[in-house]
Amino acid sequence: MNLNSYHYSENTLYCEQVALADIARRAGTPCFVYSQAEILGRFNAYKAGFGDTPHEICYAVKANSNLSILRLLAGAGAGFDIVSGGELFRVLKAGGDPGKVVFSGVGKTAQEIDYAIASGIHSFNCESPDEMRLIDSIAARLGKKVRVAFRVNPDIDARTHPYISTGLKKNKFGIAIRQAPRLYGEALEHKNLLVEGVSCHIGSQILETDPLVEAADRVLELVEGLRAAGVPIQYLDLGGGLGVSYQAGEPAPDITDTVRRMVEHTAGRNLTLHIEPGRSIVGPAGVLVTRVLYRKHTEQKEFVVVDAAMTELIRPALYNAHHDIVPLRAAGNRGTFVADVVGPVCETGDFLAHDRKLPQVMPGDLLAVCTAGAYGFAQSSNYNSRPRPAEVLVDGAQWTTIRTRETYDDLVRGE
Ligand SMILES: *Cc1c(COP(=O)(O)O)cnc(C)c1O
Repeated sequence: MNLNSYHYSENTLYCEQVALADIARRAGTPCFVYSQAEILGRFNAYKAGFGDTPHEICYAVKANSNLSILRLLAGAGAGFDIVSGGELFRVLKAGGDPGKVVFSGVGKTAQEIDYAIASGIHSFNCESPDEMRLIDSIAARLGKKVRVAFRVNPDIDARTHPYISTGLKKNKFGIAIRQAPRLYGEALEHKNLLVEGVSCHIGSQILETDPLVEAADRVLELVEGLRAAGVPIQYLDLGGGLGVSYQAGEPAPDITDTVRRMVEHTAGRNLTLHIEPGRSIVGPAGVLVTRVLYRKHTEQKEFVVVDAAMTELIRPALYNAHHDIVPLRAAGNRGTFVADVVGPVCETGDFLAHDRKLPQVMPGDLLAVCTAGAYGFAQSSNYNSRPRPAEVLVDGAQWTTIRTRETYDDLVRGE
């Protein structure tokens, strides 16, 4: 997987055929930039892995929920994995097919369930007995039959950051795989539920695919048991979670190879496969462009203060995540230095990089924080009353603003 949508040409960093500095000049900084070719290329890499196997690729909206990106993926044939009514609203607004929407999440409200059923979504990934009963009663009131899968917890360690590991017994997600048969039995008695699926999602930023295969094995065993007990299981949702490379040289699993492996593993069982990739579709497609405001030396440290902050990209603060940071202008022999790259927000946790080796930079220089297309803007906030940044989509030599920078008036709307 090497789409090379970002590259230097004559020392200038390009996204596809557009110099990022041109975008920064006109859209301002900080701003997120996404490559359309990279997003579609990654989605199509998933498709290629499935070949003729019946499947649904449900893009996890929470990774990046911009309407233009949803519209792009809907046009390419994607379904959607949502975790809130707001995400469903976005999918419908973007022209997504509700019949390809799966609703995940541990805390769906009655109002959200009602909205989803009325919209005709494909199915719920149900996470508790209480939720199952609520879905059934709302479906009964609406006079509908609703497809459900239970999200089971295979107790597999995805070997990723504890905050994004979800498939362990101690996590709040899913139901214990050993309790699943009893719950499926109970579900069959609810007249408004179509109990046709099993789902799991063991975590995010998974870099070794063995845990995914182990999880699939445990869930397949459950499927066989359920079918033998008369539960008409037709689809298997293996969740998302495939990792991406956040650091030059860090290997990440190949999308097509991984999907092929899962397809081969589950073949011959008359199961439609669903997956819910988020990060691996949009993460590497995006960068956060930021401008250096100041250089600052203290007795202990060297700082580069930039105009982007944890309000745009919280991943370093939240997960101690690494994002490569590169200059938009790669002047040859400027020399390097080591610094913390920090934003203007009044928190010590507001950093984009710690002790990072950087090329010499000056106030006014532009930098790209790499692999910021997933869980970047989506986790942005207005903390410190910072308007949220613009988002830009590049397509070949063209680019369009797909979200305008917020204004001060936007900040106080509704107060
Ligand atoms: C977050 C999430 C995903 C997507 O995870 P990625 O790591 O972005 O691929 C898929 N399914 C569920 C249920 C999720 O919560």
